[in-house]
Amino acid sequence: MTKIKFYNTLSHKKEFFKPLKDRKVGLYTCGPTVYFYAHIGNLRTYLFEDILKRVLEYNGYKVKHVMNITDVGHLTSDADTGEDKLEKGARKERKSVWEIADFYTKQFKEDLKALNIKKPDVWIRATKTIKQQIDLIKILESKGFTYRINDGIYFDSSKIKGYNQLLCKKKANLKAGARVKMVKGKKHPTDFALWKFSPKGKKRQMEWDSPWQKGFPGWHTECVVMSIKELGIPFDIHCGGIDHIPIHHTNEIAQAKAAYGKMLARYWLHGEFLVLEKARMGKSEGNIITLNDLTKRGFLPLAFRYLCLMAHYRSKLTFSWQSLKAAQNSLNNFYKKALEFKSAIATGKNTLYRDKISKSNKYKKEFLTEINDDLNMPKALALAWKVIEDKTCPKREKYRILLDFDKVFGLGINSLKMGKIPDKIKKLVQKREKYRKEKKWEKADLIRKEIEKTGYKIEDTKNGPKVAKISYF
Ligand code: AMP
Ligand code: ZN
Repeated sequence: MTKIKFYNTLSHKKEFFKPLKDRKVGLYTCGPTVYFYAHIGNLRTYLFEDILKRVLEYNGYKVKHVMNITDVGHLTSDADTGEDKLEKGARKERKSVWEIADFYTKQFKEDLKALNIKKPDVWIRATKTIKQQIDLIKILESKGFTYRINDGIYFDSSKIKGYNQLLCKKKANLKAGARVKMVKGKKHPTDFALWKFSPKGKKRQMEWDSPWQKGFPGWHTECVVMSIKELGIPFDIHCGGIDHIPIHHTNEIAQAKAAYGKMLARYWLHGEFLVLEKARMGKSEGNIITLNDLTKRGFLPLAFRYLCLMAHYRSKLTFSWQSLKAAQNSLNNFYKKALEFKSAIATGKNTLYRDKISKSNKYKKEFLTEINDDLNMPKALALAWKVIEDKTCPKREKYRILLDFDKVFGLGINSLKMGKIPDKIKKLVQKREKYRKEKKWEKADLIRKEIEKTGYKIEDTKNGPKVAKISYF
């Protein structure tokens, strides 16, 4: 069996993966800050994490996946200045913070479902672990890692040896001056808030009593508490987008080291950003594309999943509507082929010959080589197309192979079915037939393309054209 190799941000190189406990894997992925819809950049990261989980499962591991929901404490700036994103969102929409958090959590879960992302085994909301977060800060305080200033309790990053461990050397040197805007009284630019005090004279919607002063937790503490609570310390894999490397994950590691003298997790995997052609996309910048924007333009959510599979998770993905269109076309073709192969199962004899078994085994082995090489999805996808085009492999065998690969791709091959044909499409088919009879091939072809764009496939048989809808779930 091919062993899995991951690029571990902690060691800055590819490493063989070895879990702590035999066939079990503890996986923690940083979840959304629920003050607005997730954008397609965020969703790219959740898709990468879903692929990671599926690859582990394909290799026979049992994964316990934990994801947090940040419903408090994430400020609009990473330098501990600015407002709490939730409180700001609530004011903008004239709703309570709790309503905002509930609404966007629900929306987020719907996005995951539409993208065929498997649900985490455990969801935890930050506001459900306030007591445990206070307990952790008390431990840090008792060990001398904290100090108090006007607006809160801070972590002294200079007390941690190798604080910048996650950063590669080049970036670590650049770091000191990186965060220019600093809270007054902070000793070092990299120190961070553990507990922020409620502003004087203002009542926050979310605030709690604490041994220090009424307030709320800083964002970096919740993930330490929740991951250890569910997975122990150390656990196997911790993930997020690359923006989490210099601040959020660095600060999680620092707190765990300070409190327990241990590394929080053994493998740290980070997904590169999705960017727009001209600009960075960010919720805070108010410059975002959501999954809803894609479906409003007639794209299937899974076309976005397909687009993400086409790029390696450690490469930047520049989003454009043209590239999404190309992904949608490839996905339509993928479905068309899978359906064609599936119908061969219904009609064909169900005998498996030795050479076919060895063919599937050969493809499965190649598939494992690609996916286990730091999740090389573009190559795995190319292999699936090689299977589709293999003239020597029987159709029903190809269907079985695609179904097997789809445990990792998650494109919903097992749910494909033919649907009913609406009148509008039937009329187009008739129109196309008329052009064909008149030998107006170009016009007939344009109509075929129009039909295909709506997710129908048309096949010319001896008995005339056959049309079918490809439906998904
Ligand atoms: P947030 O809701 O802002 O806490 O972000 C949720 C996840 O999305 C985190 O893992 C981020 O690292 C990730 N993320 C944020 N922006 C992007 C982007 N443009 N492309 C890919 N991932 C992103
Ligand atoms: Zn986190």
